[in-house]
Amino acid sequence: MYDYLIVGAGLTGAIFAREAKIHGKSVLVTDKRPHIAGNIYTENISGISVHTYGPHIFHTNNHRVWQYINQFTSFNRFTNSPIANYYGEIYSLPFSMYTFNKMWGVITPEEARAKIEAQKREAGISSPKNLEEQAISLVGRDIYECLIKGYTEKQWGRPCSELPAFIIKRLPVRFTWDNNYFNALYQGIPNGGYTKIIERMLEGIDVRTNCDFFAHRAELESTAKHIVFTGQIDAYFGHELGNLEYRTLRFETEILSGTNNFQGNAIVNYTDRETPFTRCIEHKHFYPGLETEATVITHEYPSEWRPGDEPYYPVNNDKNNRLYESYREMARAKCPDVIFAGRLGEYKYYDMDAAVLRVLELLEENHIL
Ligand code: UDP
Repeated sequence: MYDYLIVGAGLTGAIFAREAKIHGKSVLVTDKRPHIAGNIYTENISGISVHTYGPHIFHTNNHRVWQYINQFTSFNRFTNSPIANYYGEIYSLPFSMYTFNKMWGVITPEEARAKIEAQKREAGISSPKNLEEQAISLVGRDIYECLIKGYTEKQWGRPCSELPAFIIKRLPVRFTWDNNYFNALYQGIPNGGYTKIIERMLEGIDVRTNCDFFAHRAELESTAKHIVFTGQIDAYFGHELGNLEYRTLRFETEILSGTNNFQGNAIVNYTDRETPFTRCIEHKHFYPGLETEATVITHEYPSEWRPGDEPYYPVNNDKNNRLYESYREMARAKCPDVIFAGRLGEYKYYDMDAAVLRVLELLEENHIL
């Protein structure tokens, strides 16, 4: 009999497991995939650490989170500066003086602000209610049309006018010549890849991969006093109240042997509506200066999640958030001992640092830390 069954060997599950274990609890971790590390899994292909489930750049402003994660790895000096390709024109991201200069030829912050103000006024937006209005009021209509609308509608499969404003507020808007994608004090890629972090967290812990919780539910539930569930909360309840919506991704990864520098940057976003993928990742560039003979690239294709697909992003619009709240109430009433955690368990668009912080809080709430 274990104290905790932890369903999901991703970042959230692994931190919970590690802390529970070192604080005297016995734990079993399961994962339906054949490997640990969830969506931060990286694998070595041709000497390059490949982000199998999409690019992950660790970034945080939180000193506690940074110290915590540095117990398990060191980080390199990578700074994320993606670029946008809009019908062959290249723009710098996030939205900064480089972007404004390319779009309008403006040189000073004052000129850039004036352009945005004029476009915002023309659109008649005073208090933005959705992603479209939020985007126009932050950066004006031109940038919205070229760099946001197409990308966002591909990524989320919904019109920008029906998406929550918070999604676009993830990106900084700067009136400086600074193209660091994140406003974070600490940033980098773990030396040796992400999988190593999770391996270290799970050292000495019983882990069963290739183990689908739902296929072995009765047996697994009877092996532990408490459950930490990091899968989809609606799946846990057999979708009894209806399906929460998610976005899934298809990744097309290729090893290119004819070149060792395909696009000159780790991330290139394709922001027009026609190109079917959202972005192209060239993994070696996450390690600045890494010398390789070949290169590995991944094109990322988003689509609506259907049963059997991997759910990557919760679609946090009002309808889904209300349904999620109903599942939360159901959880409180029917299984107060089960801890739902992580992007899928809490139906929340967590970044890695926020996921770390949240699991540390959960450990405190459960008197483990
Ligand atoms: N976004 C955009 N154009 C871009 C990059 C991002 O419009 O070139 C919007 C899009 O709606 C996306 C959101 O900003 O979903 C958040 O982007 P982020 O890079 O944080 O997404 P993630 O890496 O988590 O997929």
